[in-house]
Amino acid sequence: MTSNAGVPRACPRCRKREIRSLGLASSQLQWFTCKACQHVWAHGAAPESVPTPIPTASGSHKHVLVADDDTSVLGMVERALSDYRVSTAHDGSEALAILSTQKRVDLLITDYLMPAMTGEELAHHARRLRPDLKILVLTGHANALERAEPAWWASEPHVIKPFRVVTLRDAVSDLIGPA
Ligand SMILES: [Zn+2]
Repeated sequence: MTSNAGVPRACPRCRKREIRSLGLASSQLQWFTCKACQHVWAHGAAPESVPTPIPTASGSHKHVLVADDDTSVLGMVERALSDYRVSTAHDGSEALAILSTQKRVDLLITDYLMPAMTGEELAHHARRLRPDLKILVLTGHANALERAEPAWWASEPHVIKPFRVVTLRDAVSDLIGPA
């Protein structure tokens, strides 16, 4: 039996109702896009249901920080990478606060389009704090972004929404290795 978490009624960004499914991200999570504003988001499992990651015997977890204003994406990434240590931030300033207080952060995963601070701006500020920080960009607007910021686009690895959980795991593993 599959549990259908339902279809969202309106776009979480612009509130328009012309939305389209882009397929499954995992068994309980589905990608949607808005025809009006082109926002891409994941809908399904509630982030509250994310199980606490079980620490490995070694206790030496690689630390991944995820910044996205979409809580469904935060929950999905947290679950997809539950063998790593994962911290979540809802915007750029929250991510920078975590970066400035945590001893170890191996990877920053950031959404590109966030209110107040874009993923690109966050990446610049984050590298001031940690010059060697690995960064992975999530975006649902790859073509527009590549046109607008070709140099930056070419210089940072990215995963394009909608993505499958396995694609994200492979990208993380390429950057920082297994947990
Ligand atoms: Zn919209």
